[in-house]
Amino acid sequence: MLNKYFSKIFDESLCRTAGVAFDAIQFFNKYHPSPSIIPKWSDKPLLKSWEKTRPILGWPRATDSLCPECVKEARKAILSGTKDWQDLVNTKVGEIKAQVIERDGQVWMIKDCPIHGRCEDLMAIDSKFLSWIEANFPGRDIRAHSDEHVHHHGSSTVKHGRGTVLTVDLTNRCNMMCDPCFMDANQVGFVHELSWEDITEILDNATRVKPRRQMSVQFSGGEPTMHPLFIDAIRYARKCGFNSVQAATNGIEFAKSKEFCRRAFDAGLRYVYLQFDGVGNDANSHRHVGNLFDVKLRASKSCSSLPSSIRSTMTRSAPSRSSPCRIPKRSPSSAFSRFH
Ligand code: SF4
Ligand SMILES: [Zn+2]
Repeated sequence: MLNKYFSKIFDESLCRTAGVAFDAIQFFNKYHPSPSIIPKWSDKPLLKSWEKTRPILGWPRATDSLCPECVKEARKAILSGTKDWQDLVNTKVGEIKAQVIERDGQVWMIKDCPIHGRCEDLMAIDSKFLSWIEANFPGRDIRAHSDEHVHHHGSSTVKHGRGTVLTVDLTNRCNMMCDPCFMDANQVGFVHELSWEDITEILDNATRVKPRRQMSVQFSGGEPTMHPLFIDAIRYARKCGFNSVQAATNGIEFAKSKEFCRRAFDAGLRYVYLQFDGVGNDANSHRHVGNLFDVKLRASKSCSSLPSSIRSTMTRSAPSRSSPCRIPKRSPSSAFSRFH
């Protein structure tokens, strides 16, 4: 007991001393800085901590936001052809000011649209926790450059970062018909599928952006394995320099054939994202494939039998009421995620 007490005191003093030492080094560095490094994945130098800018954080504060109703109306108007999609880039469609406030220990965003009235969103159920997260924000990273053809989204343009994390929806087809499906795969009455030219253009454009520290692409859909050029797309992505090539998949094709897993691995696939709604076939039955849980376990096993890095990544999704999600300790899968 006493030991624990002293070890806690020692731990706290060590942290405090390290903090003071770090601040002191930062202080002197500021006045005698060593030259900034330009890494090979950027044309601009790494930023010193004091060069990083920060948005206004904390509350109460005013911020920019969107009116959800204005956005829906704009989307409808574009789809019906009465509005030009370029308005999204060139004007501030649906943008309104919002207030971030604390109320009963929670953080809320309050917006007033002149057309649709008030809308309130809960941002955090614990204001102290959000405060801690904001306090740990390290500041904005390197300004994106060489990105004129990619980051051209009006006020929503991504301006800072260290690389590309791209999601490419190869097709809206799927070999399942879940309800709900986040993409309404198979349910919209038309097929939208990228051509080879589309795929290469998207990947080529994305590789022009700098910085290029992180190069990740996730093929999604619909079910990306339904695209006839799925394997070619993986291979091309690796050729372009994406070192983390992933598939968000329902796993059926991976479960059906080890040969398919092998071909995907050989082409350069490194991550397979699977989703489980719970443990056991019953917990997944609302997706209308009777043995879906078994299918995913088989997919997971087939992938993990490959020599190295096809691995599933684990994210526990919210437990369903009927079947709490208890992940077995020795699950053959190393991964659960929320896609599909
Ligand atoms: S597997 Fe995924 S993409 Fe296919 S229908 Fe279900 S949710 Fe939609
Ligand atoms: Zn509105």
